[in-house]
Amino acid sequence: MFLGAIADDFTGATDLAGLLARSGARVSLRIGVPEGPPADTAPYEVIALKIRTIPAVDAVAQSEAALAWLQAAGAKQFFWKYCSTFDSTPEGNIGPVAEALMVRLGAKQTIYCPAFPENGRSIFMGNLFVGQQPLAESPMKDHPLTPMRDSNLMRLLAPQVTGDVGLVDRLCVARGVDAVRAELARLADQGIVHVVVDAVADADLEVIAKACQSFKLLTGGSALAMPLPALHSQGGDTVLDTWQAPKGEALVLSGSCSDMTQRQVAAYAKLASSYRLDPLALMRDGVQPVLDWLAGQSGAPLIYATATPQDVRAAQSKLGRDRAGALVENALAKIAVFARDQGVRRIVVAGGESSGAVTQALGVTRLDIGPEIAPGVPWCACDSDGKRMALALKSGNFGAEAFFATALQKLDGM
Ligand code: ADP
Repeated sequence: MFLGAIADDFTGATDLAGLLARSGARVSLRIGVPEGPPADTAPYEVIALKIRTIPAVDAVAQSEAALAWLQAAGAKQFFWKYCSTFDSTPEGNIGPVAEALMVRLGAKQTIYCPAFPENGRSIFMGNLFVGQQPLAESPMKDHPLTPMRDSNLMRLLAPQVTGDVGLVDRLCVARGVDAVRAELARLADQGIVHVVVDAVADADLEVIAKACQSFKLLTGGSALAMPLPALHSQGGDTVLDTWQAPKGEALVLSGSCSDMTQRQVAAYAKLASSYRLDPLALMRDGVQPVLDWLAGQSGAPLIYATATPQDVRAAQSKLGRDRAGALVENALAKIAVFARDQGVRRIVVAGGESSGAVTQALGVTRLDIGPEIAPGVPWCACDSDGKRMALALKSGNFGAEAFFATALQKLDGM
């Protein structure tokens, strides 16, 4: 086994697994830390946790358990995957988990590189950009759970770690592998253990991955892992030869409030019947009204809690942030189980936390990575209550405006 990865949410894990699978490598995604010792492992194993916004001590404990499983599976290198928009709060959990993994692995230094050039995430002079906007001016400033109000990764990371934070900037990365290696070594001599690394293009990520080939632990977004299969010179089965799409009805569930998801919901609502979930109505009436509505639908309907920042703030001021989020996530989870029991076999979920809630409710423990719908979003096959299902788990910001229809069309004829 070459690489063992730990992802802080479910869509992050599918994103990473999808990009690794692009190389043709066999990639297996486990939901939560598998029970029992490793068996039937793939060369690339990704463990999806749901630890982005839980207390740091719990996030650390879960990632240490995941690490222990991956070590037992024989992984040679480890990857801590978080969001390409560095979603976290000043308390963590990106830094605390990285530090804990470093201790366990005896790693003296690690890098932080959430760049995902294909999706418009780039890092320059330690500042993260979303397209042409600095992170803190992007729609991420209004995220319901992790509003990002600073664009500087060193400033974001510093309060989350005990060790010193430094930067390898783009000018150094442009000079190539040896220059990056030398700069990392120079920083290590100064006792700088947490190093943000600039990247604005896939070519930069290749340089960085190569420069860090001997690192036990890499941390970053999914794109940083893309060059790794070539470096590991893998072989073996190709995933897509054997991947099969389960047949059955389809459903789109959206719990993301990102700018892109709002546009995707608006676009898809023109094509299919749709139902809007309101946290206050869920509090008052529960989930039964939407289940009744769904039972009368055919085709591939849409159920969404997706709302504007203004509406999210209104709901949060009445219910509290966590309560509003939990009401929506619980509803999506119950709807997914109901839909499965009604014969739905293909579900598209928008939102990282939302996807976590849905997969957990469906009792899914392993996903086999299939065809890619958009950069970072593959279809996945899984078992749920003895039924074979296809899930597409989309992080809020990913995909183009027509994503939901594109995803469903991708399985047409499969
Ligand atoms: P993303 O991938 O865009 O970050 P997530 O699903 O991870 O999406 O996070 C969105 C969060 O916002 C979830 O916890 C969800 O329950 C919550 N949420 C969704 N709709 C609403 C709403 N209308 N009001 C308040 N919170 C909401």
